[in-house]
Amino acid sequence: MATSPAAKITKAKGPAATFWDRARQQFHATADLINLDESCREVLGNCRRVVQVSLPIKRDNGVIHTFTGFRAQHSNHRGPYKGGIRYHPDVTREEVMALSMLMTWKCAVVNVPFGGGKGGVICDPHNMSLGELERLTRRYAKELIPIIGPETDIPAPDVNTNAQVMAWIHDTYAMEVGRSALGVVTGKPVSLGGSPGREDATGRGCFYICLKALPLFKMKVAGSKLVVQGFGNVGYPMAKLWQEAGGKVLAVSSDKGGVYNSKGLDVEAAAAHYRQIGNLLAFKGGDQMTNAELLALKCDVLCPAALEGTITAENAGNVKARVIIEAANGPTTPEADLILEANGIFIIPDILANAGGVTVSYFEWVQGLTNFFWKRAEVYSKLQEIMVAAFDDVYDMGRKLKVPMRQGAVALAVSRVADAFKMRGLWP
Ligand code: GLU
Repeated sequence: MATSPAAKITKAKGPAATFWDRARQQFHATADLINLDESCREVLGNCRRVVQVSLPIKRDNGVIHTFTGFRAQHSNHRGPYKGGIRYHPDVTREEVMALSMLMTWKCAVVNVPFGGGKGGVICDPHNMSLGELERLTRRYAKELIPIIGPETDIPAPDVNTNAQVMAWIHDTYAMEVGRSALGVVTGKPVSLGGSPGREDATGRGCFYICLKALPLFKMKVAGSKLVVQGFGNVGYPMAKLWQEAGGKVLAVSSDKGGVYNSKGLDVEAAAAHYRQIGNLLAFKGGDQMTNAELLALKCDVLCPAALEGTITAENAGNVKARVIIEAANGPTTPEADLILEANGIFIIPDILANAGGVTVSYFEWVQGLTNFFWKRAEVYSKLQEIMVAAFDDVYDMGRKLKVPMRQGAVALAVSRVADAFKMRGLWP
């Protein structure tokens, strides 16, 4: 078994219970690694602010139902808080706190001038009408007005939210403050100040990272086999780009299960089915399989693109991929990390792999503030430039500290945030 810093801290403190525990454990392991001073540890090991809101909404049947929402703001040392909003039945306060910490590190890894935030509402958007979703979103936005804004905290899409949800947040904010404020959210529709290329940016960023990383193992995308867990905003564009570049997409899945074809799936046909039905059950282009079977498929690259904590101590030993690219936030538990590391699997960590989304959010924010809009090709080439530079920075940091990419990425991020914290000093 490896004795990386993560291994030491896992042994010392036992397995982390929640996602927030895991995020903090990862931070403290990194703090040990880079000898971070105590004051930085205390500040960066916690969220600066976590807000909980009650959201009474009239359902279509006339009954009022009160939902619960959160917004966690981890750090704004390098710029405004930044991060998505998710709608999911399993959202918790601790989950959004963990995700806001990861956003701080992610923005620092790609060196965009943001801190970290994250929001979520406990709801099942698949069982809500468009009208109910609009009322919920507007009420949530109204509750967040005191703490969001183009220079304070800038939400974006995340699990089960999209450009329409961002348009409602933008409209609610603009109506309430009485002025246009394109910079208050990113991931808006292009017709409303959104950036071309934002929708597929996270998946595209993962793809650019693969183009850069695979040659390290004498591999290339063309002819290589990809397995994708999760087929939403991130998994679908990643699979599509992979296939367009001559790679084979062996399997994709939703929360209900996956579909596998040893000759390679028709990604567009699977996407059309998914858009229509909301899952991949009964898709005829391959054989049905469970998510557990999918994670155990022999492939070149495995791309977990669903929720956190899907690769665990129980299933990590089954993974047969050469490379894992973490499109989701926090898909691998620290215990699973050690198993994968011991089995020689190269992991490209979430805060690097999926940073394409927030990078194009940054481009969108800049375009909104300057009212000058870019062409898609410009967005893609600037995205690729930033992803490649971030990969090099993380890789170099990992080599310098003699640790895997994950610790290298967190070490790079924490050092950048700690520098900003120290330079700013305290007030009052
Ligand atoms: N929700 C995305 C993420 O986890 C994007 C955040 C953003 O664009 O602010 O990175």
